[in-house]
Amino acid sequence: MQITRNRTDSSIGPADWFTGTVLIDTITTQTAPSRVAAANVHFMPGARTHWHSHPVGQTIWVTEGVGLCQRRGGPVEVIWPGDRVVFAPGEDHWHGACSTRFMVHVAIHEADDSGSTVSWGAAVSDVEYGSAPRLEDSSPRSS
Ligand code: MN
Repeated sequence: MQITRNRTDSSIGPADWFTGTVLIDTITTQTAPSRVAAANVHFMPGARTHWHSHPVGQTIWVTEGVGLCQRRGGPVEVIWPGDRVVFAPGEDHWHGACSTRFMVHVAIHEADDSGSTVSWGAAVSDVEYGSAPRLEDSSPRSS
């Protein structure tokens, strides 16, 4: 058993990977023989990941706020606390907060044989981000 006390600083999501302000708190990093990594991530309103994919896939679990996510070629989807999103291995996607609300999710993903958990791409443009549905047209019970 190992207890890590709550004395670790949050890290700020680097601009190479995120748009806007993102705070990352590590839950676990892959430690052999486990390949699981997990983090709790706070996105300020308007903040989102760049386009990216995960070689072994990813599960996110929304815990607070209102978020958005999109897979390449699909519509922007609104996600609410309690929603779980599974991204398939290699599926190009992004996730983040909506423009007027923060969002918090737990992210769980595994490393591939080379130790990689993610492959980063281009930023989500304002046009791509701006195609999100209006919150008034979406609710936790309507989709
Ligand atoms: Mn992802």
